[in-house]
Amino acid sequence: MRTGPAHCKCPQCGSVRSLPLFWGYPGDLAQEAGRQGLIAFGGCMIDDAHLNRKCCDCSHRWEDPDAPVFDWSTVKPVRPWSALWRRLRALWQAR
Ligand SMILES: [Zn+2]
Repeated sequence: MRTGPAHCKCPQCGSVRSLPLFWGYPGDLAQEAGRQGLIAFGGCMIDDAHLNRKCCDCSHRWEDPDAPVFDWSTVKPVRPWSALWRRLRALWQAR
């Protein structure tokens, strides 16, 4: 079984299943990305927006310095970030 990069490992339970965390009210694209299991939602209260990953197994949220920071107004990640970005971009262009 393949495992993800070490930085994606949950610091609480050790699971490697985690998702980038989206904060704020999700627009159409963010909602679609959520339906496809690409991202998780943190909620509309963005006090904890520095937390950018969520564990799929224990729901622990933490700050991953390599994880993307979303800017959905431009539909671009703030940080360089490839595979998920390409899938989101494809979603955007398919509309
Ligand atoms: Zn966990």
